[in-house]
Amino acid sequence: MWKYLPEDRRGEYAATDDEAKRWVDSASRGQTSDARRPPELSTRDNVSRAIYTEVREGRGTPHGGVFLDISYLPAEHVRRKLPSMYDQFKELADVDITKGPMEVGPTTHYVMGGVRVDAETGASTVPGLFAAGEVAGGMHGANRLGGNSLSDLLVFGARTGAGAAAHAAKHAAQSYVDPVQVADAARELAAPLERETGEDPYALQRDLQEVMQRLVGIYRVEADLNEAIDEIGKIRARLPRLAVRGGRVYNPGWNLAFEVRNLLIVSEGITRSALQRTESRGAHSRLDFPETDQKGWGGRNGVVRRREDGSMDVTTTKLPTMPDELGSLLGGGAH
Ligand SMILES: Cc1cc2nc3c(=O)[nH]c(=O)nc-3n(C[C@H](O)[C@H](O)[C@H](O)COP(=O)(O)OP(=O)(O)OC[C@H]3O[C@@H](n4cnc5c(N)ncnc54)[C@H](O)[C@@H]3O)c2cc1C
Repeated sequence: MWKYLPEDRRGEYAATDDEAKRWVDSASRGQTSDARRPPELSTRDNVSRAIYTEVREGRGTPHGGVFLDISYLPAEHVRRKLPSMYDQFKELADVDITKGPMEVGPTTHYVMGGVRVDAETGASTVPGLFAAGEVAGGMHGANRLGGNSLSDLLVFGARTGAGAAAHAAKHAAQSYVDPVQVADAARELAAPLERETGEDPYALQRDLQEVMQRLVGIYRVEADLNEAIDEIGKIRARLPRLAVRGGRVYNPGWNLAFEVRNLLIVSEGITRSALQRTESRGAHSRLDFPETDQKGWGGRNGVVRRREDGSMDVTTTKLPTMPDELGSLLGGGAH
């Protein structure tokens, strides 16, 4: 991993295998040492790009990943610290990660964008709709760093719960649900169950996964992103033909018939935003725009809105100025 470390971060990582091993030894005993951490513990976007590059250049494992070897650690320590990883490799692949290397590769990890909310209350721009956690956007910038999701959930989960409760207390008396909208929604929900033949929602989900993995993955280029928008459109055109077998009780296929619509919206939003953003920043890496363009894109967020005709509008907005007390905590640079 040494060669993949960003130049300005090199100083934070061990310079030799010996130093890395000293760090691991101390960490596994719960102690600190003067050794720096191994470069394999770089940020996940960086490790993903490294794995992708190694595989593309022909140094991948038989299943298209890379080897991760932690078998030099005491077996008891591995089983205690990584119990589910140990069990999964043993049960699903018959690989004992305490005895030899495991094959690993990048997958979807976190959605950095999301519903735009007010940071104090979690209120979205849709009255009465509140969001917190991974579904909300703007908290982590271009790269959610390790452990920060948990802190996000604790802080903004509490704020949003309080915000939603205050809203409900204020508006409960005036609540009104349009019966025509309810009847339309119920009819739409029932339709896939009533169709005798049609498209399987699992097929749409699988095709969408394949498109997103191949064309909107770790490295993006304009031609791929445009192709992905076309492919997403073709999958969306299959939605009205969805048919689901079985009844209304515990039917994951029926649930997926609606979820797949949302997956298509989120996928299109991600793809159009990635196309718009002609730079590389955090976990967004454009091969055709490899540099971070601070002048053009610094302090700007992409915003996706629904137009009247249902199509997607993608623009940008300037981030609010960071308050001085936060700027000083984060090392200056208020933007
Ligand atoms: C492999 C992996 C490792 C991670 N490791 C860490 C880590 O070490 N530290 C860290 O801080 N973060 C980590 N994260 C991120 C963190 O786990 C998530 O960001 C966090 O769990 C998100 O919590 P959430 O409550 O916002 O969403 P979720 O936990 O996704 O909860 C959303 C819930 O809504 C339910 N739901 C969905 N649709 C519907 C519907 N239509 N009706 C009703 N319910 C619905 C879902 O079933 C789910 O229970 C990791 C993520 C992954 C994938």
